[in-house]
Amino acid sequence: MNEPLLEIRRAPVRELLVDALAELDAQLPWRVPVLVAGDRREGAKLRSTDPGNPERVVAEFSPATDAEVDAAVRAADEASRAWSARGAEARAAILSRAAGELRRRRPLLAALAVRECAKPWAEADADVCEAIDFLEYYAQQAVALEAGGAVVSLPGERNTLHYAARGVVAVVAPWNFPLAIACGMVAAGLATGNGVVLKPAEQSPACALAVVEALHAGGVPPAALSLLPGEGETGAALVGHPGVHTIAFTGSGAVGLEILRRSAELAPGQAHLKRVVAEMGGKNCVIVDADADLDDAVPAIAYSAFGFAGQKCSAASRLLVHERIADTLTERLRGAIDALLVDQAQRFGVDVPPVIEQAAQNRVREYTRVARDEGGTVYQPGTAPEHGWFVAPTLVSNLPRRSRVAEEEIFGPLLALQRVASVDEAVEIVSGQPFALTGGLFSRNPATVERVRGALPVGNLYVNRHITGAMVARQPFGGNRLSGTGTKAGGPDYLLNFVEPRVVTEDTMRHGLVV
Ligand code: NAD
Repeated sequence: MNEPLLEIRRAPVRELLVDALAELDAQLPWRVPVLVAGDRREGAKLRSTDPGNPERVVAEFSPATDAEVDAAVRAADEASRAWSARGAEARAAILSRAAGELRRRRPLLAALAVRECAKPWAEADADVCEAIDFLEYYAQQAVALEAGGAVVSLPGERNTLHYAARGVVAVVAPWNFPLAIACGMVAAGLATGNGVVLKPAEQSPACALAVVEALHAGGVPPAALSLLPGEGETGAALVGHPGVHTIAFTGSGAVGLEILRRSAELAPGQAHLKRVVAEMGGKNCVIVDADADLDDAVPAIAYSAFGFAGQKCSAASRLLVHERIADTLTERLRGAIDALLVDQAQRFGVDVPPVIEQAAQNRVREYTRVARDEGGTVYQPGTAPEHGWFVAPTLVSNLPRRSRVAEEEIFGPLLALQRVASVDEAVEIVSGQPFALTGGLFSRNPATVERVRGALPVGNLYVNRHITGAMVARQPFGGNRLSGTGTKAGGPDYLLNFVEPRVVTEDTMRHGLVV
């Protein structure tokens, strides 16, 4: 059921993508408007740029004003009534048409993710596919949800449980899955009959515009979906608006906590509680037992840690390795790092593109310095291209047990390797972390797999494979503890966050009928 990925190894497919990139380059910079209920206001105060060539401007935009935030929320509220009244089947048909729009523009949209976020082609294509999957999956799920929940009725008493749209959903999105995550959160809100206002990441407004255009082209009424480009301030104004009922946020822990805190405050006249769906950061660990098959483990770990320069929320960033194989694994991982292709995202076969912006480059470099201060052995071979926000893939071993590099989210191509005496010790370390997003285990012993799977708090555990690339409907994705509110994007329960349950109990022992 998932949208099949492009076969980039085939020459005609690569030609298609090269042509799409040339077509896109001729259109740059895109003008991303503030789009409120169909009204466009263009501006050029801010820009998103190509992380591999920061002189290339991908999009120009001006942040939404407070008045535009207010207008968007009011329009979404107003529009949500008619939108919700259409019923889930009709909305699902519209979302499916939007998926068709994304499919039709697929090469261009992948090219946009290459340029705006430096996603290598395979990752960029997967981003488009995931956006399509979210639209179709939530469309189907919403139809099922409309049938209501199962409740018991007794003779003479009829009970029904149905789900109603909550009202206005504010979506605040990150840049690292610039199409898929924004699209998924918006699709969930719309499928369930809410009006939606999208505030995309300042690094990827053009990708967000493409998603919004597809939804409008599919038939979503302009007032039911507004786009408010801007920075954190715009996001804060949106989530703080008293007319917002649900906030769907994906991003860093600091911002997520701030949103949770602010959303608990009741504005004057506000007669509802805001609900926050927050998907936040992690420190994803992979445990490697002494019996692991290193032929499987090494490429899977390298891909999980360094693919898309370690900027997936699920990327591996801490390895807990049984001491019996730690030296061998370190050696082999160094070999794997030597073989990684560090280059511009548009080059086919690239493993490690530049990171998103200069601040990210500085952050990862600073953690490399901290690693040395902490006594770690830093392996950072080769050179990254000079131009663009590149960081060479880095393996740090011999860190002390308590270590900032081993415990904090870095969000870049830096992997910390620590030795453990046993899998149980590794489980204890992972269980002691405040994060619980993804995790991995390499072991050939079924008893070990059984023990670890029940013991780890992470939202997504991957056994004997890479730990990134969750697929809609197959691996519902999201973390626990400080990694998130425990909701699972692309899973069967996700839409429940966007609706309110209502039960009607009727005494059916009528004494006559009035018609
Ligand atoms: P970020 O928190 O800096 O920004 C996310 C969004 O929040 C942006 O749109 C930003 O403009 C907005 N924002 C910033 N300050 C705000 C405020 N005060 N109020 C409201 N909105 C505000 O995160 P990012 O750099 O875009 O993304 C990277 C982070 O996202 C990493 O920590 C990563 O782990 C996390 N992430 C998590 C998941 C997941 O599913 N758990 C998925 C992707 C990314």
